[in-house]
Amino acid sequence: MESPATTPLEDVRARIAATCKYARRASEDVTLIAVSKTHPAEAILPLIEQGQRVFGENRVQEAQAKWPALRERYLDVELHLIGQLQSNKAAEAVALFDCIHSLDRPSLVAALARAMEQRGRQVPCFIQVNIGGEPQKAGCAIADLPALLAEARQADIPVAGLMCIPPAGIEPAPFFALLAKLAADNGLSGLSMGMSGDFETAVMLGATHVRVGSALFGERL
Ligand SMILES: *Cc1c(COP(=O)(O)O)cnc(C)c1O
Repeated sequence: MESPATTPLEDVRARIAATCKYARRASEDVTLIAVSKTHPAEAILPLIEQGQRVFGENRVQEAQAKWPALRERYLDVELHLIGQLQSNKAAEAVALFDCIHSLDRPSLVAALARAMEQRGRQVPCFIQVNIGGEPQKAGCAIADLPALLAEARQADIPVAGLMCIPPAGIEPAPFFALLAKLAADNGLSGLSMGMSGDFETAVMLGATHVRVGSALFGERL
């Protein structure tokens, strides 16, 4: 008998591993991003102590306030920006984050390319796709993806893959499958998809990065 999972982190890891096994995937191919937005350092430390090394934040300012001190203590922690990025914050984002999941428009390509050049630091980016075609949502339109990708590549931005947040309240699987198809069609291997409510579905459909917040930290503050 396996011993029962005791912490939320162990539980999420076990669910990812079980899904990988069922999908005939290697669990090392799925990166768990622990989304710590709204949670203070005291809530983050126990996860670091349990070995979690990849974290996600959705706001530059909040991350700037929380993470420099933690990263001084834990040099191998990786920090991902998962939320919308304003062009005027591109330089700060490039300085702080190891990966950006929200590249979604030409003006941001330009701002990030300039920031990366000035800083001498290449930060891998996922292109966020508005996979459900929702007017109020961030992400580039599916029809605009090839042009945006070409611009990013032209600007020497390392494009890691595609990211999406499917529409709320309906089955996400078709949207994850569509994102996987778009990535394959465009020669991209990274797929940032799946959150607390649907990361197993996302892993079944090829997610390489799942962004999990409340299942690890509880309700947002
Ligand atoms: C907050 C957030 C998540 C995590 O959401 P949970 O449902 O708490 O797991 C994932 N992705 C993005 C872009 C987010 O803003």
